Amino acid sequence: MPKKFYLTTTIPYVNAAPHIGFALELVQSDTVARWSRQRERDVFFLTGADENSLKNVRAAEAEGIPTPQLVDRNAQRYVDLTRALNISNDDFIRTSTPPHHAGAQALWRACRKEDIYRKSYQGLYCVGCEAFYLPKDLVDGTCPEHRTVPETVNEENYFFRLSRYGKKLTGLIESGKFLILPESRRNEVLSFIKMGLEDFSISRTRVRAKDWGVSVPADPDQVMYVWFDALSNYITALGYGQEQPARFKRYWPADLHILGKGVVRFHAVYWPAMLLSARLPLPKRLFVHGYVTVGGGKISKSLGNTVDPFACIRQFGADAVRYYLLRYVHPTQDSDFSEAQLADAYQADLANGLGNLVSRVTGLIEQNQVNVAPVTAKKPTHELGQLVEGFEFNAALKLIWEEVKRLDTLIATAEPWKLAKEGKTAKLTSVLKQAANGIATVAHWVEPFLPETAEKINRVMTAQPIVKSAPLFPRLDQKT
Ligand SMILES: [Zn+2]
Repeated sequence: MPKKFYLTTTIPYVNAAPHIGFALELVQSDTVARWSRQRERDVFFLTGADENSLKNVRAAEAEGIPTPQLVDRNAQRYVDLTRALNISNDDFIRTSTPPHHAGAQALWRACRKEDIYRKSYQGLYCVGCEAFYLPKDLVDGTCPEHRTVPETVNEENYFFRLSRYGKKLTGLIESGKFLILPESRRNEVLSFIKMGLEDFSISRTRVRAKDWGVSVPADPDQVMYVWFDALSNYITALGYGQEQPARFKRYWPADLHILGKGVVRFHAVYWPAMLLSARLPLPKRLFVHGYVTVGGGKISKSLGNTVDPFACIRQFGADAVRYYLLRYVHPTQDSDFSEAQLADAYQADLANGLGNLVSRVTGLIEQNQVNVAPVTAKKPTHELGQLVEGFEFNAALKLIWEEVKRLDTLIATAEPWKLAKEGKTAKLTSVLKQAANGIATVAHWVEPFLPETAEKINRVMTAQPIVKSAPLFPRLDQKT
């Protein structure tokens, strides 16, 4: 049986339209998923939407529509984004659905009895983060993420005994059994744990939750804290808590969670502690990407600097947006989004680079009626494999584009048009066959990154006879 590979994105709140930062997470994850399928792993790739947040209730109130209507409409936008970006997810979880509710409740019940207790609590709560802050965590009295003054909340809630898991988590992280990448994030998590973990609230009153969310088992007055329920999506999507969870048995633990730097603590501390408490295996690896920024600052709806991924895809095409996000956005550090840079990448690397190479070589093959069959692709090099498996998507694409350059040079140096004129047929055939095989290799290597382009190239290169390819990346000024 092939080796299983379960990977996930986070599930964004659906209170607003998707932004380019989540497109980055989808595209990175999709590249890993497609790469893993190429390696013949049995991949299960999950994304979805977090619908139980109080943010969604407030967004619905602001629009004057019922919350279920808002989450239906907005979750669809995320589904649309996965389609527009050609994401190969196997499932899309929506956390307002009954199977998820049942699974989250099953996880709650599976946690050790002594780990969940009631206590009255006063805390500083940021609705934007759906999280409590300690005064020392605030910046000038405001939430470090949202720069808003948190609400003071007074109520009796359930707590999770996180404090008992510090030592255990440290051991798992230090030994690499629970791997956090990149290393800087791992170190950040370790020092956070070292400062001492505090128990955290995992429920709120039904009144404050505005009667929206997953009910706490056997306590109708309480609704689960959105993070407790949201994190459980990674197992409820596999059928955890249902009668015959075949998928859960096959795919859990996750081989990889991909997430943004803002939610490291939830994934690297809360989530594994919840799993330990429920005596479930931990995910094997977390990969933490940076933020896509604009003008050096965080993208946020309130700042009015959001980049609409749909508009980018309409203008440049899905593969161009994928290419830009993977090659020019750093995999783990914050990177500025620039439409000018995206346009440059399109023109230089895609239209004039790969696109031009393919039409030039296929044009020469057609013109000279050369038989280059069978066209064969080489397997990815060890170096390329290391880069993709190490999440160095930018370096991996750079390496593939060196191959594109090498083929450009091959054509420029061999001058096939001269060989044709001079009647050097054997040499001409040999050069064009090399170029055709090189292009097939590039298509194979680039498939996890640019699936549509790879498919187009494969179609052109396996046609009998080969005819000149239509432009893979039409010049922008010619696009309508
Ligand atoms: Zn906040």
